[in-house]
Amino acid sequence: MQKVIISVKDLHKKYGTFHAVKGISFDVMEGEIFGLLGPNGAGKSTTLEIIETLRDKTSGEVMVNGLNLDVSPNEIKKIIGVQLQTSGYYPNLNLTELITLFAGLYNQQVDPLALLDMVNLRDKQKSKFKEMSGGQKQRFSIATTLINKPSIIFLDEPTTGLDPQARRNLWDLIQNIRAQGTTVIITTHYMDEAEVLCDRVAIIDNGNIIALNSPDQLIDELVATGFERPKEVKKANLEDVFIHLTGHELKN
Ligand code: ADP
Ligand code: MG
Repeated sequence: MQKVIISVKDLHKKYGTFHAVKGISFDVMEGEIFGLLGPNGAGKSTTLEIIETLRDKTSGEVMVNGLNLDVSPNEIKKIIGVQLQTSGYYPNLNLTELITLFAGLYNQQVDPLALLDMVNLRDKQKSKFKEMSGGQKQRFSIATTLINKPSIIFLDEPTTGLDPQARRNLWDLIQNIRAQGTTVIITTHYMDEAEVLCDRVAIIDNGNIIALNSPDQLIDELVATGFERPKEVKKANLEDVFIHLTGHELKN
């Protein structure tokens, strides 16, 4: 049987008088890719940052791998990987130096090249962070989440702003990370991405969870209400055309 690795119960967050998260509850199972979907301002990042111990909650209970957030935040920090804001990187250090720096902060021994191999950046080991493309920066920042060998990683819109090849490349990377047993929580605005990647998704709107299920079940539930797409759907879309013409390979 699968085990619950994150349990959120009746979580509230107020910023002053503004109620950003209004009593949400959900469980994340060990080894799954769990998606938080929702429009801008829905409360996704707030929810993630509370679980990541980076933001205070107003009320509610959060358990991470049996650890209570209120009691053991430092223990939780040790078993999670969080994507840092890329603006926080030292722009003049090269990738190997950055990994060594972060590993030192985490008090961890890591092999920088093995980590760079995992995200396909070995040939960039001597490049500075600022010299990389958007997709490379995202791959690198995902690599940094793995430095402390976490059980769970949190990815907040990791593919926003990337081209279709880089996006697909990141999907492969995220699936590889999960295949090694790591639980992944991800936010995204791309529904095709959630459909491909996520075992289950929670849809958040205005601080409330309005649906929670596998993408497949959610689609079936909608179809069961009699919903039909307004027009005949073609067997391909423009993104298929783009990928067909320009290939799957990363261009950088
Ligand atoms: P999402 O990640 O889903 O786009 P956020 O969690 O970032 O949403 O924000 C949820 C709501 O809370 C938004 O209306 C946002 O403006 C507000 N908010 C986020 N951070 C703060 C803050 N530090 N102070 C005040 N309001 C905030
Ligand atoms: Mg956000």
